[in-house]
Amino acid sequence: MKATEKQTPGFASLVGQDRPVRLLTAALARGALPHAFLFTGIEGIGKKTAARVFAMACNCFERLSPSQTRPSEDAGMEPCGRCRSCLKITSDNHPDVIWIRPAGDMIKVDQIRALCGKLALKPYEAATRFAIIAHAHKLNPEAGNTLLKTLEEPPAHTVFILTALQASDILPTIVSRCQHIRFNPVSVNSLRTYLEKTHGLEAEKAAAIAAMAGGSITRAESMIASAWVRKRDWIIDELEALPNRPVNLCLAFSEALSKNKDGIFTAFEIMKNWLRDLVIYPSAPERIINKDLTQKIKASFQKAPVGDRLQKIRAIERAEADIRSNANLRLSLDALIMTLSREN
Ligand SMILES: [Zn+2]
Repeated sequence: MKATEKQTPGFASLVGQDRPVRLLTAALARGALPHAFLFTGIEGIGKKTAARVFAMACNCFERLSPSQTRPSEDAGMEPCGRCRSCLKITSDNHPDVIWIRPAGDMIKVDQIRALCGKLALKPYEAATRFAIIAHAHKLNPEAGNTLLKTLEEPPAHTVFILTALQASDILPTIVSRCQHIRFNPVSVNSLRTYLEKTHGLEAEKAAAIAAMAGGSITRAESMIASAWVRKRDWIIDELEALPNRPVNLCLAFSEALSKNKDGIFTAFEIMKNWLRDLVIYPSAPERIINKDLTQKIKASFQKAPVGDRLQKIRAIERAEADIRSNANLRLSLDALIMTLSREN
């Protein structure tokens, strides 16, 4: 394991979100903030982190001179991460940085009413108070309408930040009152670098996880936490061994897979990516996903014809579709594993 770098608390900790950071620091530099922001994008790319960092930067004692509430002209945009205000915000203990998160499946009207009650009072200590509504696509209609009324007559010294998957999931009347900032899925390269630096992964393992994480940092980190690499290696070893195995051992693999129903689609993804790597390796070795397994791919790609691999990928896709439409898991898996064990 390489040494890991401690994460900076500020905008620099956001991975691959140059444009959102530029828009936020520009708003900071102007000193005139909109009443509300809407941050949209897939899960796990830093929307909530950006909201927290922005609230920190707007209230950081080291950024704001004691005599005035606007940042002095030469102040940097990053929050210091050490002052009393920054520390309170980082630990979710700042009375003027109010987080609203779904209670169960929804953000209910009572939560928004309680928020509006707090916002009707003066801020306790903040230069700029923040109401951060995470997963705002889960506002139920009544809660959405109550929030809209507050956005129409926004309280002083208060900035709303809503985060959501996409703007179309939010009442258009709310969206129109927000400055909309789109967060992008993190590129494979940025994610790889991040995983190497922050989690100390070897370059090739980081590349494999980055390629599988669909642009989401949270997903990449949960893959690390769930020992994804070990699981992947096991699945690939089993898959490669299938053609020479007696039926009972093939079915033992199928049984092992069926025991982790939640992991089954990840397992399918791993199998498809492996077969795909074997297919593309001869023509485009730079495009393989399992970069840390290059030696293994080199040793395996000629063992079966390309057509055979493509058929197997299609068989996995069929099994996936069957299981998604509620076919019997074990039966579908048994049939699939027997298909994958056949050599053409
Ligand atoms: Zn600070």
